[in-house]
Amino acid sequence: MHRWKIGDVRVTRVQELEAPGLQWLLPDAVPENLESIPWLAPHYVDEHGQALASVHALVVEASGRRIVVDTCVGNDKERPIPPWNLRQGPFLKDLETAGFPTDSIDTVLCTHLHVDHVGWNTRLVEGRWLPTFPRARYLLGRTEWEHWSADGDPLTRTILADSVRPVFDAGLVDLVGSDHRVADEVWLEPTPGHTPGTLSFLFPVAEGGRSLTVMYAGGTAFNFPPSVEAFAIYRDSMIHSAELARTAGATVLMSNHTEFDRAYDRARIAQLRRLPGERHPYETDVDTVVRYFEMSRDCAEAERLLRERD
Ligand SMILES: [Zn+2]
Ligand SMILES: [Zn+2]
Repeated sequence: MHRWKIGDVRVTRVQELEAPGLQWLLPDAVPENLESIPWLAPHYVDEHGQALASVHALVVEASGRRIVVDTCVGNDKERPIPPWNLRQGPFLKDLETAGFPTDSIDTVLCTHLHVDHVGWNTRLVEGRWLPTFPRARYLLGRTEWEHWSADGDPLTRTILADSVRPVFDAGLVDLVGSDHRVADEVWLEPTPGHTPGTLSFLFPVAEGGRSLTVMYAGGTAFNFPPSVEAFAIYRDSMIHSAELARTAGATVLMSNHTEFDRAYDRARIAQLRRLPGERHPYETDVDTVVRYFEMSRDCAEAERLLRERD
């Protein structure tokens, strides 16, 4: 568990698992290539040089709300990826130890409906999948739901059946559109690409007498059916995200997986005492945040051009 405050917003990262296995997502992330990037060791690669993938939830406490962002893989679920299959992990206990019993959560936000972002929406109770957070409203993107619920793929159907439909059945879902405000200060933005309805969000925090804006990028990486159109959508979302970050003056970037926002280092550094005037380790500057999206834009455009040529 890592916890840090950015001004008046407290963020707690509750890790479900960290394990080697990033190659399905980043095919070039093989030990031979990673070796040449020395700072990856020891936190982002294991002793065999394999890239580590982290799955975690963030609890964002803002404007009196307790928002769980993305709900990991979950327990007892049949999944084709071995470390994700029929897990018996202590996630809920860890969440409670962090100060968040399940019934104290008022909002669950799934940035998208991939398997590692919806798992703890439900848990198995006497053979039935029931909502893990019975007092929460679950915010799901309308576009995202419409896309996946029409998908005939057996794995998708399984994931929805055990992790998404039960919260609908319990009447806890709010399907949200493009301009939804979660709390006074937390607003959602559609950034399709990683999935058709991926949501990102922004919120301001007061830090040392100043107001900083956090941009949370919801859904990174190209693990979708590759096509010219899909990469164009991704690219355009990154252009939109860069504009948003610039307009909002975002100086803090967060992402759902440690690999993309250096949460591993930053959350640890945030535990240390800071010298007067020293910045919060998550704070960068607008150009750095914008560059993150511009780089993603360029990668998507490169992939698009490759496919256009073929
Ligand atoms: Zn995903
Ligand atoms: Zn993911």
